[in-house]
Amino acid sequence: MAFWNKEIETMPRAELEKLQLGLLKKQVRTMYDSSKLIHDRMKEAGLSPADVTDLKSFHKLPFMKKTDFRDNYPDKLFLKPYEELVRVHVSSGTTGNPTIVGYTQKDMDDWAESLARGMVSFGMSNKDLIQNSHGYGLFTGGLGVHYAAERIGATVLPTSTGGTEKQIRLMRDLPVTAFAGTPSYLFHIADVCESMGVDIRRDTKLRLAIAGGEPWSESMRVKIQNKTGIRVHNCYGASEFYGPSFLECEKQAGAHVWADICYMEVLDENGDQCAEGERGELVVTMLQKETFPLIRYRIGDISAIEWEKCECGRTHPRLMRLSGRTDDMLVVRGINVFPSQIESVIGEIPYLSTFYHITLENQNYMDAMVIEVELNESSLSDDMVELAKMTRNVEERLKSVLSISSKVRLVLPGSLKRFEGKSQHVTDNRRYDW
Ligand SMILES: [Zn+2]
Repeated sequence: MAFWNKEIETMPRAELEKLQLGLLKKQVRTMYDSSKLIHDRMKEAGLSPADVTDLKSFHKLPFMKKTDFRDNYPDKLFLKPYEELVRVHVSSGTTGNPTIVGYTQKDMDDWAESLARGMVSFGMSNKDLIQNSHGYGLFTGGLGVHYAAERIGATVLPTSTGGTEKQIRLMRDLPVTAFAGTPSYLFHIADVCESMGVDIRRDTKLRLAIAGGEPWSESMRVKIQNKTGIRVHNCYGASEFYGPSFLECEKQAGAHVWADICYMEVLDENGDQCAEGERGELVVTMLQKETFPLIRYRIGDISAIEWEKCECGRTHPRLMRLSGRTDDMLVVRGINVFPSQIESVIGEIPYLSTFYHITLENQNYMDAMVIEVELNESSLSDDMVELAKMTRNVEERLKSVLSISSKVRLVLPGSLKRFEGKSQHVTDNRRYDW
């Protein structure tokens, strides 16, 4: 089994935690001395870097939030002059100002190191030709994957987004072995391959994929893998870290979060630390970042951290699949609904494809949730009774998971809008201004 940095990746947990605590203390000190935001917040809380002696005391530090980036737009959080920066990326905020992130050369190196370890962990090497369909531009995905792949000596085909037929022609005509993109785009490519008469197993050398940039479910992975024969590895990150940063190894048992690069906490509803392996809100601290502070950042994702040693031999903690976000949660008739829950039900039903869309409306002053889902090509039927039965089955399965009823519409394959970047699964047409 190959490693990119075996010594650090397999360091015994006790040693690793010692290393992590040392980096944590150093980073708090650096940020206290250089960042006004961190300095003022810690002072307000009556804390100084000397108070951080262990994890317990670190957990008393104030949080950072998405609004810190918005409030310090465009670059007031930066701690380095532009002479020392080598790159700036911009991510679209859901509301208000976009989030602007900068990188020193060390930040770039750490980013590439993090992803390079991940790529090697699922079997990529300098023998691979990776087709990178992530957007090259302000979005971090394209250039992030690009530099890491080059770092391990792989060859990059920088197709960027769009031009699906051209993407497929290239993956057929060149010895492309790996693919990077969003999971929904990979699924879309598989669909278009079918309509072009391209058999991924027979006509391409594709065997590995990195999928990320949007939340997705385990059942969607199974569907993509069965359809294409490609092993798909989940990727986790955010522009506030560096960009896509942490990848699943060949065991596909959660993304390895390198403990010398990042410290992740999981908090329960009361803001207390969850027990190991328990689900809660992720709070992220970047341990080596130079350009701006990221200390106890509430990223808004819900997941769990597993420290148990991975079968691959790596000792670093693993981030389990996301089960929603604290901020894309839909409240429908008072019930919390996560689109990821709906996606996972859809994934379990064999006659459905993975394309769906949720529309929320007011009907007679009541919230109504309409879920359109595409049927699989092979499950089309003219039999109305059969279709009604299939529809009812989906509605019942959804109700048992969501504890709320919804209206399901089964639609023809290919009829829902496709997104080449992140999928947009929800349209909220509800009005509250009666
Ligand atoms: Zn592993």
